[in-house]
Amino acid sequence: MHELAITQSILEIALRHADGAGRITQLNLVIGDLSSIVDDSVQFYWDVVSRGTIAEGSQLHFERIKTRFHCRDCQTDFEPDGRAFECPQCGGSRVSLVAGREFQLESIEVE
Ligand SMILES: [Zn+2]
Repeated sequence: MHELAITQSILEIALRHADGAGRITQLNLVIGDLSSIVDDSVQFYWDVVSRGTIAEGSQLHFERIKTRFHCRDCQTDFEPDGRAFECPQCGGSRVSLVAGREFQLESIEVE
């Protein structure tokens, strides 16, 4: 259900940035693979919350960011293979998350 709250905050940000524009046509969102946000349900909520605003009928465009880890033992950055989060270089498990939890509104297109 947290997609609804997220979608509402996207709308608030978009409307603030579109101040003075006639209509919002597209929103470009960046979503990390780990953020557990489902594109389809965001689009569904978007159609509901944007109704009656200048963003009504606009399209959401999602860019997925792959999960990346950084190995603190050998300083390698890597994309985890499935559920194994060990470093492919040295087999170490002292890793930190570099990317994958993003959820942000990158840009909006207006007309
Ligand atoms: Zn390593």
